[in-house]
Amino acid sequence: MTGIRFPPEPATRYNNQFEPSREGQESCVFFSIRDLELRKIPFEVELPSGKIDFLDPDLNQSGNLHAAGQAELLSSTLGEIRVRGHLRVTLGAPCDRCLESASILLDTDFDLSYRPADMDIAADEVELDEGEAEMGFYEGDGLDLADVLREFILLQLPMQIVCRQDCKGICPVCGENRNKAACQCRLETADDRWAALKKL
Ligand SMILES: [Zn+2]
Ligand SMILES: [Zn+2]
Repeated sequence: MTGIRFPPEPATRYNNQFEPSREGQESCVFFSIRDLELRKIPFEVELPSGKIDFLDPDLNQSGNLHAAGQAELLSSTLGEIRVRGHLRVTLGAPCDRCLESASILLDTDFDLSYRPADMDIAADEVELDEGEAEMGFYEGDGLDLADVLREFILLQLPMQIVCRQDCKGICPVCGENRNKAACQCRLETADDRWAALKKL
């Protein structure tokens, strides 16, 4: 990787979304460009709740997060790091319909690529094919696995978090949790919605 200069000081911003954790972070893995130039770096981690800050007080990790895979520097590129592997974690968050606790299991492969943030001209020139790995950016001398995992997990969360598929939610009229007790309120808005759908 001759001809590429990385900032002498570790950058403090990463993808503009979160602070990278560097020194002081325990039990996670830092993929440094220097090491990646020599070899692929395998990883296997078991992270208890709290090791990754999801930046969302409503989102919490239940049990350990398990992740295993490898990071490599793609030799045909200008410093692109590819991190792939498998992740398994259970998260808890309030149900969007009834506000009771909902559980989300993520048990999935991931395949993510990161370009140096100062190579944005190159990034503009390269179009992502459909199905190609997700693309992110890193600054400084490498990439922290905790940041990779956090970002991937946040991307994987469903648009709507429900405690169960048939959660009946909270009655907008009386506020009763309709999973626990049926109320007698008549929901004319719901009827209107169905009527509108039938006309389509
Ligand atoms: Zn619910
Ligand atoms: Zn009601």
